[in-house]
Amino acid sequence: MFESARIKLTAWYCLIIMAISLAFSLTIYQMMNVELQRFARNQRFRLERKVEFKLPPPPVIDPEVLAETQQRIIVVLLGVNGIILVFSATLGYFLAGRTLSPIKKMVEEQKRFIDDASHEIRTPLTALKTNLEVNLRDPNLKLNEAKKVITESVEETNKLILLSNYLLNLSRLDQNKIKLQLETIKFNQFKSLFSKNQRIKFISSIVSFTADKSQIQELLTILVDNALKYSQKTVKVWAKTNSKNIIIHVKDYGIGIDQKEIPHIFERFYRVDSSRNKTVAGYGLGLSIARQIVDLHHGQIVVKSQLNRGTDFQVHLPIKN
Ligand code: ADP
Repeated sequence: MFESARIKLTAWYCLIIMAISLAFSLTIYQMMNVELQRFARNQRFRLERKVEFKLPPPPVIDPEVLAETQQRIIVVLLGVNGIILVFSATLGYFLAGRTLSPIKKMVEEQKRFIDDASHEIRTPLTALKTNLEVNLRDPNLKLNEAKKVITESVEETNKLILLSNYLLNLSRLDQNKIKLQLETIKFNQFKSLFSKNQRIKFISSIVSFTADKSQIQELLTILVDNALKYSQKTVKVWAKTNSKNIIIHVKDYGIGIDQKEIPHIFERFYRVDSSRNKTVAGYGLGLSIARQIVDLHHGQIVVKSQLNRGTDFQVHLPIKN
């Protein structure tokens, strides 16, 4: 699909360049022709004058030489246009490749995203269906067993709802459909989010900054949820400022992340493939949403982590957005 688009684009580039080049050549040919005709006319005029005054005749242009010169100009111009055609086709093909490459990358990413999303949805749905069908066919199913099956199904359904919310969020963020509702937020406003959980230590701070409150809430929830999932001990949340930015820390003392995995953890559906990680539920979408939110606020996320020591996610956001 992209190869044919590339060839079509190359053809368009060539067509435009050749149209310009041929127009130029035609103009040059016309101008040279006019000049040659004028030159021949002058010569004739001079000749007539010299005959009239009995002066020795000046050299005359032979009409055959004139025609030959005109032909030669045409050949030279055609040669130049041929070279321009080859050159523009090569350059056009290269430029078409460059032009299409980000679109190609985007389409491939979208395709991979759809494949992964369909896979993530189909697996739990199939398991859910099989579980329900098997139990439905069982004539000896007792009430408490049926309740257990229903409870499991509700849990699975909740996970699917979470996944669809993630996907919807990502899609909205992707299409820039989310308009930030910027307001001045005090960092302490987020304290209530985490006050119920004994494992979270929220360190108060008077720092305030401009951002979209619901988006920052979502961002902090993702980071804190991860910190709780991938550690057993206390999770610390605090903020500090420098002259331009607020830096929010979410720090845990858990399994940590291998340095070589850090560049990948923000990719969609990416989950670190360690034995300890496999037992923790997740879809590998939280951090890609987190990064999109931070990007929307023109900030950045820095990850400092040591295996088996813990991870410190640092979110840098401009104080004035
Ligand atoms: P998931 O739903 O798998 O947690 P995320 O996108 O939130 O997806 O995170 C991607 C991966 O990054 C996780 O699967 C995990 O391996 C790693 N990760 C994220 N946060 C932490 C953390 N605090 N400690 C250790 N690993 C983490």
